[in-house]
Amino acid sequence: MRHLYTLFLLLISYSLLNIVPPRSFAAQPIKVVTTLTLLEDFVRNVGGERVEVRSLLSGLESEHTYTPKPSDIVAVKEARMLIKIGLGLEVWVDSLIKNASNSKLVVVNTSSGIPLLRSEEVDSHDHDGHLGNPHIWLDPERSKVIIRHITEALSDIDPEGRNIYLTNQAGYFKKIDTMRSKIEDKLRSIKNRKIITHHPAWPYFAQRFKLQIVDNIQLQAGTEPSARHIANIINRIKKEDIRVIVSEPQLNPKVPKSISEETNAKMIILTPIPGGLPGTGTYIEMMEYNAEQLSSALR
Ligand SMILES: [Zn+2]
Repeated sequence: MRHLYTLFLLLISYSLLNIVPPRSFAAQPIKVVTTLTLLEDFVRNVGGERVEVRSLLSGLESEHTYTPKPSDIVAVKEARMLIKIGLGLEVWVDSLIKNASNSKLVVVNTSSGIPLLRSEEVDSHDHDGHLGNPHIWLDPERSKVIIRHITEALSDIDPEGRNIYLTNQAGYFKKIDTMRSKIEDKLRSIKNRKIITHHPAWPYFAQRFKLQIVDNIQLQAGTEPSARHIANIINRIKKEDIRVIVSEPQLNPKVPKSISEETNAKMIILTPIPGGLPGTGTYIEMMEYNAEQLSSALR
């Protein structure tokens, strides 16, 4: 009997020691709103169950010409954190934040400190006085800096979660490294690396994976090119043996299609934002999908 009693006590104390204190986040995950789907994916990878995240854009809209919906105002009103690229990319977001008038909202600008590529074509993107192309996430190494900003911002408002965020970040960086070397392997042996792109979204991707963007159809995001510019592009495609024109599901394919018909250069559709095409739901899937399309078109 005494033995049983001791055993009972032991079991009780054992189970007491094993009780996990309820984690504060379990009741209330941090509500995060992002402008773009890639940021939503990054937040989900770092934050896991401690966050509840949604992107304002679905991936099917142009990041430059988006018009916020009434439900977006509600989402920003209820959020603890809003995550954007910055650099004037999301020209529509500042008025959205103002209209939501949420005094608890932390706005995270994930592009700060990232070295930018400059070009005449893309300076028009900018409405905040920054100089440089804002499509930084198409380079996986720059995306890591974006992700570090997200990890820091989450740790600031949820210090208990810091170690979890850092562990998640490390695991995700490994996946990004794998993706990067897969793409490098895929594109390495291509000889003709010249492309024409529809809007100036691709310079970081091209620099990282050694492709050559000869020209952009849209000199300013969201504007139609002049007849003269189109004629110039057609000329260069013929003279310089350019075989691939890159359009995007978020843009009207009419002009790239007509250039393709005029020159026999092949038009392919890549998406700069996850969710733009089937099979591009995550950042990594999108990067690998784009590389695969380029690889088969440039061979
Ligand atoms: Zn863009």
